[in-house]
Amino acid sequence: MPAAGTPSVLIVGTGFGGLGMAIELKRAGLANIVILEKGDDIGGVWRENTYPGAGCDIPSPYYSFSYEPNPLWPMRFSLRADIHAYMKATADKYGITPHIRFNTEVTSAAFDEDRRRWRVETSTGAVYEAQVFIPAVGQLSRPSVPSISGRDSFAGHAFHSAQWDHDYDLAGKRVAVIGTGASAIQFVPHIQPAVEHLTVFQRSAPYIVPKPDQVYRRWQQNLYRRMPKSQLTERAFFWGLCEFATVGLKGNTAITKLVDWLALATRSKQIKDPVLRAKLTPDYPAGCKRVLFASNYYPALAQSNVHVETSPIAAITPGGVRTSDGAEHRVDVIIYATGFTTTEFLGPMKVHGLAGRDLREAWSAGARAYLGMAVPDFPNMFLMYGPNTNLGCGSIIYMLERQARYIRQAVQHVAAGLSYVDVRRDVADRFDVEVQRRLSRSVWSRCGSWYRDVSGRISTNWPGLVSEYHRRTKTVDLADYQVTR
Ligand code: NAP
Repeated sequence: MPAAGTPSVLIVGTGFGGLGMAIELKRAGLANIVILEKGDDIGGVWRENTYPGAGCDIPSPYYSFSYEPNPLWPMRFSLRADIHAYMKATADKYGITPHIRFNTEVTSAAFDEDRRRWRVETSTGAVYEAQVFIPAVGQLSRPSVPSISGRDSFAGHAFHSAQWDHDYDLAGKRVAVIGTGASAIQFVPHIQPAVEHLTVFQRSAPYIVPKPDQVYRRWQQNLYRRMPKSQLTERAFFWGLCEFATVGLKGNTAITKLVDWLALATRSKQIKDPVLRAKLTPDYPAGCKRVLFASNYYPALAQSNVHVETSPIAAITPGGVRTSDGAEHRVDVIIYATGFTTTEFLGPMKVHGLAGRDLREAWSAGARAYLGMAVPDFPNMFLMYGPNTNLGCGSIIYMLERQARYIRQAVQHVAAGLSYVDVRRDVADRFDVEVQRRLSRSVWSRCGSWYRDVSGRISTNWPGLVSEYHRRTKTVDLADYQVTR
């Protein structure tokens, strides 16, 4: 039972963000937590994305909680099932599971100033109240299917990569894959051998570099178990490598040239056909879209049953896909690997703060939050994986741990007698101006990607190194907030 005076906290989502937040609070003795989860299981993107070959392209020793190293990772780049199992085991170990209300989607949340509580309504009709409201719904939770002309006229089967239809047998089928991002490059090599024909519709060629994967041997796992520091070395190495790469993403072209060179060498080695190689050559600076790690994608594209189509899609027809050159690509199934609605953040949730302020209005010129977590007029609301906290290289779990630590301190201030804290507008505005100024010099400003919203504003990514984020989020400075007792 929570101690008297322990603030009530409502967390939304059980991905790494929601779980990490709950664990941080529980470890600090702040156990008055309810977690609402729209699905019937924990896991966020690792529950949802079940496409063949789904895994993480950040090494597991780094893509895990720092306080919960896992000596038994089977591979350096773990697959979805192992990551999901890790999340479940961690949730159980820290006693998080009993706090979760499954199949409960938040529809709206409003701050009641008189009662100094968030009132949260859900799809089940149940209403929750809490002093602190922490949406941890991620940036990649709502699949995006482009509204291509004629889409609904398609007579075959269609699904999104994040809603994989495992009941549909792709064997012997003519398959269209639309999109060539991180998801497509993972499943294309897995479906290519089974299908009759695969057409990959590529709008932009991704930068692909080899994935330095490794199956951990028994002796390594034993070593990690007996001497956890040995696994820390690998974590630290990839942490440092990503910090180095991020210097490039921030604008150092000497470093992005290295990526360019590595991607060119990979293409030259794995694609012998010069026409195909030309199609697969990116026409934007390295790092502007996410650089992808895959050793099996190009070899799959080079197979005789695969065609890479670069003519823009004009329409979807009952029989397949028509491209702007007039060609009709007849297919049985279309797989949309077209990503997620990344810049809408809390998405369909209606959120109202002080004086009924609508979060959608507050974000009408683009989502923004102080340190990615706090929004003026939305007191005691803290976002996990909010605006400008995504990384071009690095483990998002590292960022989430920093956010959890910061938010836990804010909850401790509430526990110590503050009624609510509301980030000062001038502080939040100054932060946003700084972030946008720095992002405008980054490589991400030089092409379109899911990092940018419709206006072109980069609203997903952190502009600096993760070590800077660590430093800036280490302590809650109450001078940044308007405090109500
Ligand atoms: P994505 O990176 O946003 O890729 C979407 C793809 O669809 C792009 O190639 C895009 O082309 C294309 N596309 C979108 N709309 C289109 C249209 N109307 N016509 C033609 N093509 C269209 O999505 P994702 O591959 O699902 O990955 C999203 C993010 O999830 C990743 O960047 C990553 O952060 C995360 N993820 C991570 C891992 C991992 O291993 N850690 C694995 C999977 C996903 P353009 O590039 O031209 O827009």
